[in-house]
Amino acid sequence: MAGNPLILDIRGNSLDDGPGIRTVVFFKGCPLSCIWCHNPESKSAGWEIGFAADECVGCNTCLTLCPEGALARENPYFIDRSRCTLCFTCADACPSGALSRVGSQMPAEEIVRQILRDKPFFDTSGGGVTLSGGEPTRHMGFLSRLLRPLKDKGVHTLLETCGLFDFQRFCQSVLPWTDTVYFDIKLMDAKAHRQYCGAGNDKILDNFEKLAQRFREDRSRLLPRTPLIPDITATEENLTAIAAFLGRAGMDRIQLMAYNPLWLEKNAKIGEYSSHGNDASMATWMSPEKISSCRAIFNNVGIHAI
Ligand code: SF4
Ligand code: SF4
Repeated sequence: MAGNPLILDIRGNSLDDGPGIRTVVFFKGCPLSCIWCHNPESKSAGWEIGFAADECVGCNTCLTLCPEGALARENPYFIDRSRCTLCFTCADACPSGALSRVGSQMPAEEIVRQILRDKPFFDTSGGGVTLSGGEPTRHMGFLSRLLRPLKDKGVHTLLETCGLFDFQRFCQSVLPWTDTVYFDIKLMDAKAHRQYCGAGNDKILDNFEKLAQRFREDRSRLLPRTPLIPDITATEENLTAIAAFLGRAGMDRIQLMAYNPLWLEKNAKIGEYSSHGNDASMATWMSPEKISSCRAIFNNVGIHAI
């Protein structure tokens, strides 16, 4: 299995990741590092150890087993990650699942087999498979081994991407077996994109324009999406700039994803603590009024915001 990417999760019965009932494959590893990432466990491509404090039953099994002495009740984070060697002795022994391996490795054929078990649900609901992450396009060769047999079996395929990929390889290895692409556009200002997402946006915007051109006969195959992050992406200036960009690319719809603070809890589970976690605006769910005002920016220029 050497060389197979790590999978964060394979989740069936999803109603949130495309049309119908879907099975979603979450890959680990992303070329961006957005500070608000809602799947922070998927940012790193490598193994991680997770700790959910609220699931711990206090049996102390892990404390006695850890060969590195990396676990301590006195440590507010419980795990000293500088000492942890990721041997997973603790996770394998933890009776409650509070400690867990983050990531698993399996061959493409096994994932295909798992997905095809859900085909009856896809067929009755107009659903299919969604590849998400992390960033699935980090593993283009693996994706083609996954998507090809699924398309052969008549499964609808959808890819969620941050847009930072090699366009030529994407067209060769992924696009021929992909029905729909959900493409994130977060920030139009290059400096802000670097600051909050860890990389520039030139290539992302360029890839989007090329893809819009590819799909010019059937724009329903491409859906731009913007996460509404308070005071960062959800500003009038940024959303107006995104609307103008989409208009130039000939697009007439966008999906806006309302902010929720659940990423803070997920971050803590893998020992990450963002300084933005203390921002008052980051602590609460986005209000319906704010979401409506963001939608209006697009609707006012003829871009349907869903
Ligand atoms: S993974 Fe191994 S080294 Fe890390 S905390 Fe668990 S037992 Fe200790
Ligand atoms: S083994 Fe699991 S349940 Fe027991 S103390 Fe450790 S984390 Fe908690």
